[in-house]
Amino acid sequence: MSRDLAEARVHAIETHRVTAEPYYEPVGDEVRLFEAAYADRIPVLLKGPTGCGKTRFMEYMTWYLGDRGRDPLPLVTIACHEDLVAGDLVGRYILSTSGTDWLDGPLTRAVRAGGICYLDEVVEARKDTTVIIHSLTDYRRVLPIEKRGLIMEAHPNFLLCMSYNPGYQSALKDLKHSTRQRFVAIEFGYPPRALEERIVAHEAGVGAEQAAGLALLAEKIRNLDKDAGAEGPSTRLLIYAGMLMRRGVGARRACEIGVVQAMTDDEVLQSGLREVV
Ligand code: ADP
Repeated sequence: MSRDLAEARVHAIETHRVTAEPYYEPVGDEVRLFEAAYADRIPVLLKGPTGCGKTRFMEYMTWYLGDRGRDPLPLVTIACHEDLVAGDLVGRYILSTSGTDWLDGPLTRAVRAGGICYLDEVVEARKDTTVIIHSLTDYRRVLPIEKRGLIMEAHPNFLLCMSYNPGYQSALKDLKHSTRQRFVAIEFGYPPRALEERIVAHEAGVGAEQAAGLALLAEKIRNLDKDAGAEGPSTRLLIYAGMLMRRGVGARRACEIGVVQAMTDDEVLQSGLREVV
């Protein structure tokens, strides 16, 4: 496999150090909990619906724990998908002009550099792939690199985290118990209305009144959806609707394309949502 192909197989990896303080509004005690877990290097699972701030929280924590940006922890994010194989995470031999070279995978890079490796939407990954993280999540803190016949000890600062959306849970896609029980789980949800208003105003750059309208809309739809067992619009979608409004799109139209159409293709549901809008 060539280097480009090997890199391309692992979608959306970012290895970066967050030096500027990310904007993050704590919703509960998640910062304190994560700090306590990190102090003993206890692996953390962030549990919650899509677009509720889990990724932003990870960015904030690598900044916060890295001496508030003075020495930020490297953050390696891996968007999990169903044909992600162990080699994509750990690394592989690639063809080069001199024959073959070893290319570390993103997990190996985080283990070596002492960063936080964040496996986003981990249920999407195949179960045989997730098993390779087991020895990194207990007292051993090692990563077996079978192809090279070696076992790499994790840097003291390394921590494995993952995210999971229980709303998508199905018999086919669930976390293996033996994987799940290696992580403490911090629960995330959409922020309460007043806080979401502040977040939307900040992120979309809209005025307080428009942000208040969007947060109220979300609260109403989520209350309806709770009965239907659905998730409701994400904070991310509200921000997008707000951004469209900032660009001069009328509020109703912005909510139509940013919330109604974005959430569902079902015409009956759409007309219900439109009434709330
Ligand atoms: P997730 O990883 O849960 O899918 P994100 O972290 O990408 O969601 O959140 C989507 C967007 O919502 C973020 O980019 C950020 O703009 C905003 N957001 C959500 N929650 C918060 C929060 N508590 N503080 C600041 N911004 C937030």
